[in-house]
Amino acid sequence: MRRTKNWFDEEVIKNGNKFELCLVGRFLTEKNLNIPAMKSKMVDIWRSTTRINIKILSPGLFLFQFYHNDDMQWMVNNGPRSFDGAILVTNTIPVGGNPTKIPLNEVDFWIQIYDLPSDFMSESIDKQLGNFFGTFLMYDSNNNASIWREYMRIKVKVDVRSPLKRRKKIGSKNRKECIVNCKYEKLADFCFVCGVLSHTERFCKKKIEGGTEGVTRKWGNWLRAPPRRGVAQGRSK
Ligand SMILES: [Zn+2]
Repeated sequence: MRRTKNWFDEEVIKNGNKFELCLVGRFLTEKNLNIPAMKSKMVDIWRSTTRINIKILSPGLFLFQFYHNDDMQWMVNNGPRSFDGAILVTNTIPVGGNPTKIPLNEVDFWIQIYDLPSDFMSESIDKQLGNFFGTFLMYDSNNNASIWREYMRIKVKVDVRSPLKRRKKIGSKNRKECIVNCKYEKLADFCFVCGVLSHTERFCKKKIEGGTEGVTRKWGNWLRAPPRRGVAQGRSK
């Protein structure tokens, strides 16, 4: 068999889109990634039940190749993934798309909204809040099964170039304004000075320019949602 120059032609995918079962991704970090360790962690997530190939497209840019659509969807739906504190931003590749030119700026997060008055707990309010904290994707109706809930849980698409949103003031004609607070599930490292995911304080230009005395940290570890009780983290197959 004649081998083409492109490695991806050598493997699988007989139909029109050779990237149909692929995700392109980058890790938000300014550190040097330990690539073998990253690959082994990513493979480990599947507990060797699934095959996944990880290729380097260019420095810092990876192609995650799956063999089953279910596996790829599981990866998409159960993110975000991170390695060594750096969050992985992925995207699918459209037919004819160049994997090195795909925008990689958005991550889907499950967020938890705290301090929401119980009369505000509705799907339509969730949608509005979701569109404030990012772009609303879905609402976790299973989180609302009991009468008392500590928080509302929604999935949002977040632009990693913008500072993470922390809280929102809400109110209505008949009541006092109140502030709802947001926590992010599976939040990796981020900058407590700028609130962005793309770097940590160590590499923060604002901090370097401001010196040790001139910076205020408006973000912090409190933005991380605590692990959810009774929720299995791994994959059962
Ligand atoms: Zn910063």
